Amino acid sequence: MNAAATTTAVLSGLDRARSSMEDFYRHLHQHPELSHQETTTAAEVVDRLKGDGYDVTSGVGGTGVIGVLRNGDGPTVLLRADMDALPVQEETGLPYASTITATDSQGATVPVMHACGHDVHVSTLLTAAALLAAGQDRWQGGLVVLFQPAEEVGDGAQGMVQDGLATIVGKVDVALAQHVLPLPAGVVGTRNGAVLSAADSMRITLHGRGAHGSMPQAAVDPVVLASMIVVRLQTVISREVAPTEPAVLTVGSIHSGSKSNVIGDQAVLELNIRTYDEQTRAGILAAIRRVVVAECEASAAPAPPEFEMFDRFPTTTNDSDTTGKVAAAFSDHFGDRAIELPLQSASEDFSDIPTALGVPYTYWGIGGIDPTSYRTAAAAGRVAQDIPVNHSPHFAPVLQPTLDTGTQALVVAALAFLSAN
Ligand code: ZN
Ligand code: ZN
Repeated sequence: MNAAATTTAVLSGLDRARSSMEDFYRHLHQHPELSHQETTTAAEVVDRLKGDGYDVTSGVGGTGVIGVLRNGDGPTVLLRADMDALPVQEETGLPYASTITATDSQGATVPVMHACGHDVHVSTLLTAAALLAAGQDRWQGGLVVLFQPAEEVGDGAQGMVQDGLATIVGKVDVALAQHVLPLPAGVVGTRNGAVLSAADSMRITLHGRGAHGSMPQAAVDPVVLASMIVVRLQTVISREVAPTEPAVLTVGSIHSGSKSNVIGDQAVLELNIRTYDEQTRAGILAAIRRVVVAECEASAAPAPPEFEMFDRFPTTTNDSDTTGKVAAAFSDHFGDRAIELPLQSASEDFSDIPTALGVPYTYWGIGGIDPTSYRTAAAAGRVAQDIPVNHSPHFAPVLQPTLDTGTQALVVAALAFLSAN
């Protein structure tokens, strides 16, 4: 049987699976869970995978779930979905909108919403897993379906890696993942090379010397020092990074002082850095330290600055052969709905998984926006203003064709690597 016939045969079950997939999606959307708290979602994933005949390991890296299906000789494909939601108050007005609150890691009560669309990822991967299991006489090889916690905080994938991922999954040849994006529903977008940025957050504590506001000669003013650093940091991207290399350096937070006539003794800056290339990333991080240390010396700071890195995400750089194979399979299946995905400024921790396993990967986008409203906004040049993006309280992927497309994309991509029977 050729690849297209195999795909058609495996996807023939989608018509029967559709309404239960939609019900499950609405249920998940109404019951979102914060990063590292995905216990109910994980339990439901476990039940379904077991029902489909997968060998299931749960509790990996906290709430992670791995299903393995060995089906004769052939390559093994890993498909990954993330499960967590965000502390966002949903304002979509959908009949299945979330009204859930939860306690976050700081002990605060927060609203919870699937504002990034990870409920789309879980629903479509479960459906694809079921279809591939039901159609296993059509293909040969191995299938690993991985449901990851805590993508939004950047450490869920790493947690699974450290909790024995490689041993649990065994031999894997390629890893694949997708994300619902503010593109027209029905569209699938692949991109070779860099696709998502690396993100680094840095907290810098600057030490000054406090004094009366009327006696600056007795002080090392941390407000002036911090201000000099903020201005000087603007030259890191504009003067030290090639204009062909996209990068962002934002000082998102600055705190110092308590009163107009008191010179405080410290300032804390929080920076966010986005890059698409490891060398550029290392260069920028080194330049920040160089500038900050030198400015502290220039101000005669009484102690050296302290640096703390947090919320770090790796770059996502798609492998060329893997992406080519998936893009060709998408073109065959989706026709002109298969597009090239523009470079995305967001970040993901998916690549920690293939990196740890030493296997190539590709990560693609699927659209989630009603195609008619997208076209109307595009015609008026108002996509940026009118189309809610991921993490917005208004982010509301349309059920269809989003869910069908996400399921088809996973099945089509997996079968591009599995051996046809
Ligand atoms: Zn997100
Ligand atoms: Zn996301």
